[in-house]
Amino acid sequence: MTFDVIVIGTGAGGATVARELSKKDYKVLILEKGKRHKTGTSVNYLKNIPLDLKADLSNKDLAKYDFLNYPAELMYLEDVGGTTPVSLANACYACSTCYSNSATTQFKIHDLDLFKELIDASADLKVNPFPANLMGPATRKIVDAGESLGYFMEPMPKFIDFSKCNSCGLCIGGCKKGAKWDSTQFVNEAMDNGATLISDFTVTKITHDDGKVTGVEGLFGDKTKAFEAKKVIIAAGALNTPVILKNSEIEENVGEGLFCDLFITVGGFLEDAKLNKEIPMGTKAEFGPYFLSPHFSTQIIPLLEEKGFNANPEDVMGIMVKIADEANGKLNSNKYIEKPLTERDLELLKEGYEKSVEVLVKAGVDPLSIVSTPIRGAHPGGTAAVGKVVDNNLETKIKGLFIADASVIPQAPGRPPILTVTALAKRLAQIIGKRVNIEDMNPITA
Ligand SMILES: Cc1cc2nc3c(=O)[nH]c(=O)nc-3n(C[C@H](O)[C@H](O)[C@H](O)COP(=O)(O)OP(=O)(O)OC[C@H]3O[C@@H](n4cnc5c(N)ncnc54)[C@H](O)[C@@H]3O)c2cc1C
Repeated sequence: MTFDVIVIGTGAGGATVARELSKKDYKVLILEKGKRHKTGTSVNYLKNIPLDLKADLSNKDLAKYDFLNYPAELMYLEDVGGTTPVSLANACYACSTCYSNSATTQFKIHDLDLFKELIDASADLKVNPFPANLMGPATRKIVDAGESLGYFMEPMPKFIDFSKCNSCGLCIGGCKKGAKWDSTQFVNEAMDNGATLISDFTVTKITHDDGKVTGVEGLFGDKTKAFEAKKVIIAAGALNTPVILKNSEIEENVGEGLFCDLFITVGGFLEDAKLNKEIPMGTKAEFGPYFLSPHFSTQIIPLLEEKGFNANPEDVMGIMVKIADEANGKLNSNKYIEKPLTERDLELLKEGYEKSVEVLVKAGVDPLSIVSTPIRGAHPGGTAAVGKVVDNNLETKIKGLFIADASVIPQAPGRPPILTVTALAKRLAQIIGKRVNIEDMNPITA
């Protein structure tokens, strides 16, 4: 049997494009490496890979930036729903119009204007601002402190249906109330529309003949299995898409240009603050290539203990500093990623750290308690970028082979990318729809 389209991966990109194409009655097969887990348990399956920052720590002036003292890591998930079930539901895209890396700007350079798709994706994900009446006292303290220092603290756009949200603060677990959007919803819709999902299936390579895609090959348990298709869309995420491409004789620029939107959480002791019981990242302050947002991290607790503060989770205040890091990482091993921390990255982290300390102290945090988590990343992208590996139709050099995930984003947005990836996938569904009608003369039927 030949499928009209095979989609590899069920994250932000894969689930969206599968949903859109299944609406048009194409015969869609979705192949997913991971499993479907019980809602609310996703955080238990988070994976991480070390980032080799190659940072020189010998400089005495850097001693107070304790985030440089710990190994850095990149987080991701390989399940049905991709990484979206652990997201904090942040949905920025056009908020940083003044900033040259914003999604709308960086794709326009490649003659790929995504504005309409971003608006449509916002409607699909029901993006709305974090409501003031759900702001808890700890977030309020951070907002008041930021505003008194002259910072513009704005509500974070969220893909949360607040009528279902009980403000438990556990968004990262995967929402038990069904208030937070994640891409398993789109997978379910695609299946309701007739798409077939095979989970626990790891695609290893794309098959092609005479420069044209013919299908995929992969592992189901320890058995190799192949499927034929007229079109194939890789949406395996920025860490896995390059592996599939390289196994399929597409090598040039693949796996290079990785960004992660590096971040740290700066935290400190404030008795009974209870930031951990509030919706995370309800507000933000934009500073061009970086932003600050209230964030509780369990990693702060042992660091406070090291400083002699006996803190419960309720006593931790924190602010995330997230930067648009340089797209200079390289995937060359499945054990670690080379991601040199550049001078610019370091300056942005330092600036964000200083501002966070100021805000936290103003909010009542004991200045002697201030600590910072290691540098982490949660938005891998850039490893099969537009203009390098795919053209502005998101097609590779193999005809009929497309990519629809964060790997095609050329530069770090420094902002949550799900909305952008969703918009890209919606654009690809339109491109494929048009192609089918023009090239194949007749629409493909199921
Ligand atoms: C803790 C955390 C919080 C986050 N919060 C936010 C947020 O609030 N807002 C936001 O916008 N972003 C957030 N992100 C980032 C966001 O989740 C990712 O950027 C986004 O999901 C990337 O989409 P994707 O389609 O590129 O990849 P993914 O969503 O990672 O999907 C890739 C899919 O491909 C599958 N796959 C991989 N290899 C294969 C293979 N060989 N064969 C078959 N299937 C394969 C994977 O299992 C997975 O299902 C967060 C990330 C983390 C870790």
